Amino acid sequence: MTQFSDLGLAKPLLKALAEKGYKEPTPIQAQAIPVVLQGKDLLGIAQTGTGKTAAFALPILQRLAEDRKPAPRRGFRCLVLSPTRELATQIAENFKAYAVHMGLSVHTIYGGVKYGPQMKALAGGIDILVATPGRLMDHMAEKSAIVSGTEIFVLDEADQMLDLGFVVPIRKIASQLTKNRQNLFFSATMPSEIGKLAGELLKDPVQVSVAPQATTVERIDQRVLFIEAQRKRPLLAELFADSSFSRTIVFTRTKRGADRVAKYLNAAGVEAASIHGDKTQGQRERALAAFKAGEMRALVATDIAARGIDVNDVSHVINYELPNVPEAYVHRIGRTARKGKDGVAISFCSDDERSLLKDIQKATRQTIPSFDRRNDKQLAAAAAVADKLVPADRHVDPRKADPRNDVPSELRRKRQRNRNGGPKGRPDGGQNGQGRQAQGKGQGGGAQGQKAATANNAFRGPKRQAAPAEKRWSPID
Ligand code: AMP
Repeated sequence: MTQFSDLGLAKPLLKALAEKGYKEPTPIQAQAIPVVLQGKDLLGIAQTGTGKTAAFALPILQRLAEDRKPAPRRGFRCLVLSPTRELATQIAENFKAYAVHMGLSVHTIYGGVKYGPQMKALAGGIDILVATPGRLMDHMAEKSAIVSGTEIFVLDEADQMLDLGFVVPIRKIASQLTKNRQNLFFSATMPSEIGKLAGELLKDPVQVSVAPQATTVERIDQRVLFIEAQRKRPLLAELFADSSFSRTIVFTRTKRGADRVAKYLNAAGVEAASIHGDKTQGQRERALAAFKAGEMRALVATDIAARGIDVNDVSHVINYELPNVPEAYVHRIGRTARKGKDGVAISFCSDDERSLLKDIQKATRQTIPSFDRRNDKQLAAAAAVADKLVPADRHVDPRKADPRNDVPSELRRKRQRNRNGGPKGRPDGGQNGQGRQAQGKGQGGGAQGQKAATANNAFRGPKRQAAPAEKRWSPID
């Protein structure tokens, strides 16, 4: 078995790894670390949970430490782009933990928080900056960030970047980087547009890939419960009566739905909080911290909010609503059964979600064991009580539920203004660049999700006129 010391890592890193309790490298680490140490470009096909962050963070730290020099003013030696704030924070925490004996600086830049402290941090130069694309673009526009001196460029969760409509900003950022840089590109999946982007950004990359998603899926005990849409809430409460549901992520398709389910669970005596793009950074952090600390049994989340989040020992994943895009199913259930542990994923399926279930089974090449909980009189009675606790939402046919409708109204108005050639300048008034971006398409997979769903005919929501390619993105879009 390969050891960290076999990979050519320096002592301060080996010490930090020992302190973290990592005994041996994961497969992606064993493959990627020597390649990155040699200064080569890397194309890594791996999802969160495989140890991919350390696979790039460790060799990056070593390369920066071997060639110590001051970071450029208002710039950084290494730039890591992450699709969401949560993932950016997680990546930076990893860098900091591994760099503990190295004296290299690590900072994050993302939307939803004030610009001032970020400008201050950038002013003197940073060794490693982990940023979300929108807020970084805002700083670039203000000249508070200058990317040209970047020596190592990392794009993490590239496929999610595509989902969130970040491909244009990424191209813009990359166009300002020096050609003489090292590029590392990570993606869980390789849709053709991501392959194209990788082709543009990488020079003769070494490709490494680990554990296809199916192997994770195989370890998860999956079940489908057929249930009337209006009886999902009492069924959820019934599941939580079992104390083995100790750390459960409940997925909904919409932010509003996530809030409703969390409210209902609390009313039913199950500590729960929701996490999605409309929550403030503080609310998201607090909910996640309480969930991680075991103070809350349930975290109710939308797809985008939960992706990339690394919470250990998630006992169950419940798909309260099936996702419109089959890939989202794999990502959702992959929140459990991490690090070799087993997990349980339970999906509620109402009659109008049958076609979504069919797509999921086709895409994952499996038939999920199903149980029919329809026509259950006890659940019917409990549903009536549930409606009194928290009034039910109007039911929306999932195939007609356009994820774009869930965009916050303020953002929708701004987008509309931009599309109509409205006020120029920073369309978000300089307040909320990236945070809003991630939130904007926060439900159901965004651009790519819509494409995929349209392709398999699952999505028949209202059509929106496409904006010209260059105009499509704005810091709030
Ligand atoms: P990632 O895929 O980078 O999100 O990592 C998933 C989790 O695995 C994180 O909690 C890491 O701290 C942890 N991890 C990464 N590498 C190792 C390793 N070699 N041994 C044990 N845990 C690890």
